[in-house]
Amino acid sequence: MLKCTKRLKWSRKKRSTGPGSREKKAPFSLTGILVKDMLEKQYYRSYNAYLRDLFGCRVHKITLDAGLTCPNRNGVKGWGGCIYCDRFGSGSNRYKEIHSIRQQLLDGKQYLQRRFKAEKFIAYFQSFSNTYAPLPQLRALYREALSEEDVVGLAVGTRPDCVNPEILDLIAEFQEKKLIWIEYGLQSFLPRTLELIRRGHTIDDFLWAVEETRKRGISVCVHVILGLPGEEKQDCLYTAERLAELDIQGLKIHSLYVNRETPLEAWYREGKYRPLSREEYVEWLCEFLERCPPDWVIQRLTGDPNPKEFVAPLWALDKQGTLKMIRDRFRQTKGFQGRRWKGWA
Ligand code: SF4
Repeated sequence: MLKCTKRLKWSRKKRSTGPGSREKKAPFSLTGILVKDMLEKQYYRSYNAYLRDLFGCRVHKITLDAGLTCPNRNGVKGWGGCIYCDRFGSGSNRYKEIHSIRQQLLDGKQYLQRRFKAEKFIAYFQSFSNTYAPLPQLRALYREALSEEDVVGLAVGTRPDCVNPEILDLIAEFQEKKLIWIEYGLQSFLPRTLELIRRGHTIDDFLWAVEETRKRGISVCVHVILGLPGEEKQDCLYTAERLAELDIQGLKIHSLYVNRETPLEAWYREGKYRPLSREEYVEWLCEFLERCPPDWVIQRLTGDPNPKEFVAPLWALDKQGTLKMIRDRFRQTKGFQGRRWKGWA
């Protein structure tokens, strides 16, 4: 933990620029009263608004499944994965039906154009660990995804122990023409929690990955879960405060829900795990966001469970209801993203 603290201090000093950083985004200047003003009205900096500001039109993510796997499932780091991971690796399972990335993109575009009148798209490699393949295979995958003109960006979801300098250099090459984000699953800043949920990587792996990614100017989004086994609200807020010291640009957050045929399902049925109530989640989440820097792009505030794999809690299926409760709580408490962020000082 000592080693980890030293690296945190270093990272804080080294905050640098990138597509999501405060230095580049004029309305999000550190000195700006405007920042507070805007967040007091909108409560948090949403991903949709960020993309609209950047591209001036409706931009949506298309989730892609490249048919890869994860070292935490195939025996390299562990068997079976994190305790909550469903058999599709938290992804769409599209690869089973459609191998071609181009076809998955076309299908996604058609749907998003019809449903949301989307004009441009971000290719999002979501399922499993999307840097866990030989370099030539990764290059071909990313190139294929970015070959369409209206695909303006790439988001790569992966684990912090699944990147190396060569992979990061490869991803950085695409930055000249497209918006590039890497999304790292971390879930908690507590080493004991990472062990309990069987993540198979350490906090130091994560710090190394963030540092190397930012050296190359790539924006970093971190995935966090609230309500992990053994964690109380104070533990989640500790994660928020430690993350807020790092040079990261975005956050995806959701409550832990139980999927079928996972170790978590067994714990749940045996009464060893109790999911958060919706009220608890909304309270913890709002307090978490208040500790985050105001310029972080908040890419997700609720989970997107696959109803076929889902067990509990039922409220997790009502995304819109939860989002409304989050806005209501912020309004009632006069809260907003960054209100308790230590960087204001
Ligand atoms: S890192 Fe992701 S894909 Fe791998 S086991 Fe954990 S949740 Fe599943």
